[in-house]
Amino acid sequence: MSEVLVVGGGIGGLAAAFAQAGTGRSVRVLERSAEFGEVGAGLQLGPNATRVLAAWGLLDRVVAAGVLPRRLVFRDALTGEELTHLDLGEGFRERYGAPYVVVHRSDLHAILLDACAGAGVELVNGQYVERVTTEGGRARAHCADGSVHEGDVVVAADGLQSALRAQLVPDQPEDSGYVAYRGTCSLPGDFDTADVVAYLGPECHFVQYALRGGELLNQVAVFRGPGELEAVFGGCCADIGKGLPYLWRDRHWPMLDRPPVGTWVQGRMALLGDAAHPMLQYLAQGACQAIEDAHVLAEQSAGGDWDRALAAYQEIRVPRTARVQTTARLWGDIWHVDGVARVLRNELFRTRDLSSHTYVDWLYGS
Ligand SMILES: Cc1cc2nc3c(=O)[nH]c(=O)nc-3n(C[C@H](O)[C@H](O)[C@H](O)COP(=O)(O)OP(=O)(O)OC[C@H]3O[C@@H](n4cnc5c(N)ncnc54)[C@H](O)[C@@H]3O)c2cc1C
Repeated sequence: MSEVLVVGGGIGGLAAAFAQAGTGRSVRVLERSAEFGEVGAGLQLGPNATRVLAAWGLLDRVVAAGVLPRRLVFRDALTGEELTHLDLGEGFRERYGAPYVVVHRSDLHAILLDACAGAGVELVNGQYVERVTTEGGRARAHCADGSVHEGDVVVAADGLQSALRAQLVPDQPEDSGYVAYRGTCSLPGDFDTADVVAYLGPECHFVQYALRGGELLNQVAVFRGPGELEAVFGGCCADIGKGLPYLWRDRHWPMLDRPPVGTWVQGRMALLGDAAHPMLQYLAQGACQAIEDAHVLAEQSAGGDWDRALAAYQEIRVPRTARVQTTARLWGDIWHVDGVARVLRNELFRTRDLSSHTYVDWLYGS
């Protein structure tokens, strides 16, 4: 039986492992941490990802663990005024063949982990893969403890700081200068959370939505650092002020990405997820694109010819994810403008045709 090694047990690695197990292969996931898990808060999943989850038979569980938001709303962070929205109701679901779901990332991770276990994937902890060698149609993952795992292919899903990407590309993560504070808490009584709301401000933004069937409030506050939350968002609208106390203070995340690259494959090793295309989170697509990667790699490799499959995977996925990476940077710039640009942005958003899907068809469509 063909053997697949997956390095990294994040959402991308587990999605890849589950999809590969579905093609009848023997799959082993090598994760450096002592336990499988996810740190962080909510995750938005566009229909481009939920279509894949549906095809894998996992969507019902994800929806049951999450929330189907009514709308994606953009507000001005200073005034609170609604600028535009995207209706996520029945018309949206019909157009894209799947819903927009928000889910706690640890819930999605747990569903994927359970699905992998059920599909016979071997899940191995405490294995830090330092390098991969590949020759003669085989690949070997060399771990820090001296152990070596061998398979037909290695899927490198080792995240933004990927050690294995360095074997292909001599680049480093780029710091956008922005930091994110996140937080989840039991939903306070006085929050309206039917929508995903993004408040757009000068060099800052704030996102709010509900998780776990409406039990939890999820928030993300992003600003150009260094700075202090209360000072940065002090001049913003009352709804943001109300949400600030519920953010975690003990941890924050620098917003890093890397520019797109054209090479993801070296012999029998292929990059996937953030290791391949780390992006800023403004389009809420990092995990979605990792899920798409996993699906395409499984489709292309189903025939069994790995060399052809890896080449096709790279050819299909590189342009798609490059567009998402570069658009995410641009989208962030549009969100964070001030002065005249803010006036113009707001006017464009206000006058947008609410029934138009021009800006999202390329992303959410098939
Ligand atoms: C603030 C914020 C909000 C976001 N919101 C969204 C959103 O709404 N929607 C969305 O789709 N995406 C979102 N993202 C992006 C998303 O979180 C990531 O793109 C996604 O989690 C990447 O998954 P991954 O499996 O590729 O990488 P990771 O989650 O980084 O997983 C990598 C795994 O590999 C392991 N590992 C690393 N190195 C090694 C090694 N050498 N050997 C063995 N194991 C190793 C790690 O321990 C980890 O388990 C957001 C990101 C941020 C920062």
